[in-house]
Amino acid sequence: MNPIHALPSYLEPEGVGSWGVFLQQVDRATSTLGELAYLVETLKRPKRILIVDIPIKLDDGRVAHFEGYRVQHNTSRGPGKGGVRFHQDVCLSEVMALAGWMSIKNAVIGVPFGGAKGGVRVDPRQLSEPELERLTRRYTSEIGIVIGPDKDIPAPDVNTNEKIMAWMMDTYSMMHGATSTAVVTGKPLSLGGSRGRRDATGRGVFVCGRTAAAKIGLPIAGARVCVQGFGNVGNAAARCFAEAGAKLIAVQTVEGTLHNPAGIDVAKLGAHQDARRPLGEFAGATLIPDAAFWEIESEFLIPAALENQVTAANAGRIRTRVLLEGANGPTTPEADDLLAANGIVVVPDVIANAGGVTVSYFEWVQDISSYFWTEEEVNGRLDKIMSDAFNGLWEAAAAARVTLRTAAFTLACRRILEARHLRGLYP
Ligand code: GLU
Repeated sequence: MNPIHALPSYLEPEGVGSWGVFLQQVDRATSTLGELAYLVETLKRPKRILIVDIPIKLDDGRVAHFEGYRVQHNTSRGPGKGGVRFHQDVCLSEVMALAGWMSIKNAVIGVPFGGAKGGVRVDPRQLSEPELERLTRRYTSEIGIVIGPDKDIPAPDVNTNEKIMAWMMDTYSMMHGATSTAVVTGKPLSLGGSRGRRDATGRGVFVCGRTAAAKIGLPIAGARVCVQGFGNVGNAAARCFAEAGAKLIAVQTVEGTLHNPAGIDVAKLGAHQDARRPLGEFAGATLIPDAAFWEIESEFLIPAALENQVTAANAGRIRTRVLLEGANGPTTPEADDLLAANGIVVVPDVIANAGGVTVSYFEWVQDISSYFWTEEEVNGRLDKIMSDAFNGLWEAAAAARVTLRTAAFTLACRRILEARHLRGLYP
């Protein structure tokens, strides 16, 4: 096989992992669905799956093929909504799970969207910028038949950003002969982006952490924070915590694990990363073995990287008060049980990282109305939506004696299936 072609995901032996986790999470909420339970199968089958071949011309003249996906898990409550991920391990079952989590997330926070997700199985670090642009444009044109401002609205996710959203918006607009800013969110400000969108996911993680801390009498000032992943989410969350007086004491990235009990300077680490300098050369902390990360005592632990990080293998060793899921799907159901047994509050992804899609909703509303808000308006409304949603879940979980995750899935499944029930079955 030509090594420039990515391996198709149907050859991936671990293919069902994250989708299996999603199904188990739905199952844990099913017993409480009452008269809506007859519809639960709807959530176990994505509404629509599109797999596309993406051929692009490389800079050296060869043609490389990549596999791309767009999965619309559910659209009962509104158009599909969810990010696009560029990563070498992307596979269909992962994108299915990520789309499912978007359906739940959007229902939990009450934005009028269904759930969708996209991905391309590619290591973007191997591509030049012109190659990355060609890949993005060809992917957009291939999924162009299923996306649109009132059909399905992509956004950034792992390894995608404002620049990529600008190319997606432009490609879709060229295909339709008219500029369509509301087809993607997370765009640059000058192309219909929203103030506050870039930091929104991390800010939302912080709002959940602050609200959870208030429930258990935990002060933020002086609290110790550990973050896995220092991309868009981990960086902004750490910054918000530091601004509120907390201390970032450990950071784990694909390059290694940094530790400094006296506190890591978030801005300096961000600048170090932006300069693409090796993690080990960062002067403000020491490198420790990766496995030690999970055992560091902290008040807040924030997995903000990929799925399946907190498992039965490490959950029992975690010593934190609040686990805030900045990433999607970082915790397996077995790990959930171990963490609950140890009294650790787990704020699940479907609320903890919902700040991103909340401000994506604001961006979509602003684009459609062609009226743009100030950063204070965006951040104020984000804070209110997130803290209200969190407080509601906290009460529901306490009343039903279930975890926050099961309370969130119960609420979301009810909202989705109620919409499904009212719409009825066509034809
Ligand atoms: N990719 C983000 C998420 O997983 C944002 C999705 C969006 O804004 O549509 O929630």
